[in-house]
Amino acid sequence: MAPPSDSRPVVISGPSGVGKGTLYNLLFERHPDTFCSSVSHTTRSPREGERDGVHYHFTTMENFERLIADDAFIEHAKFGGNRYGTSKQTVAEQTAKGRVVILDIEMEGVKQIQEQRARGSSLDARYVFIAPPSVELLEQRLRGRGTETEESVQKRLTQALVELEYSKTPGVHDKIIVNDDLETAYKELEDFIYQPAPAAQQV
Ligand code: ADP
Ligand code: 5GP
Repeated sequence: MAPPSDSRPVVISGPSGVGKGTLYNLLFERHPDTFCSSVSHTTRSPREGERDGVHYHFTTMENFERLIADDAFIEHAKFGGNRYGTSKQTVAEQTAKGRVVILDIEMEGVKQIQEQRARGSSLDARYVFIAPPSVELLEQRLRGRGTETEESVQKRLTQALVELEYSKTPGVHDKIIVNDDLETAYKELEDFIYQPAPAAQQV
């Protein structure tokens, strides 16, 4: 399959545990060499199986703050007591390789990128929100993943309600996908990403 004609980065957001990672990992698997992750920096500890430089750049609070002072981030935010940020360098390097960059970021990061854009600078991206079929199912998935402490589950569920409310703001997201049946949601994501670019984006 030819790469997407709209090569702008795709920002994927949605509550923790909704299936963002599951969906874009399918995209990576089914379209090798087409996409890449923006590989954020975070101060949280790696989960079992997560590798430094692949899933995240795992870093200390001290180093994270130094990166903020150096203006190294496109956006950064606090989530569940940890810090997360997207480095300018990572997105620039991957875009230069001709890959469509996928950013998995929470709501404050989405707001920051859109505010910068409104002021005429920074990323021109497409925005997808992944919603759960219900809050109950979201909680089941988050717990079922088995990666979070009870305290972390509670923080993430509280924040999920805020993110779900924000997703109703008109004009923020280009596409909202309910991740109920995985393959149906995946197809919606793939179709959205591969839809023809608006005329101004075509090269
Ligand atoms: P996120 O990246 O949004 O935090 P994950 O991709 O880690 O979420 O998914 C959370 C859990 O939900 C995982 O255990 C995953 O296997 C499961 N999951 C994802 N999508 C679905 C789905 N459509 N139906 C059932 N379980 C799902
Ligand atoms: P997790 O700890 O489950 O990997 O991620 C927690 C939350 O942080 C998720 O909502 C994820 O989208 C968000 N996140 C991951 N990386 C970044 C980032 O670079 N910036 C922002 N703003 N959020 C991020």
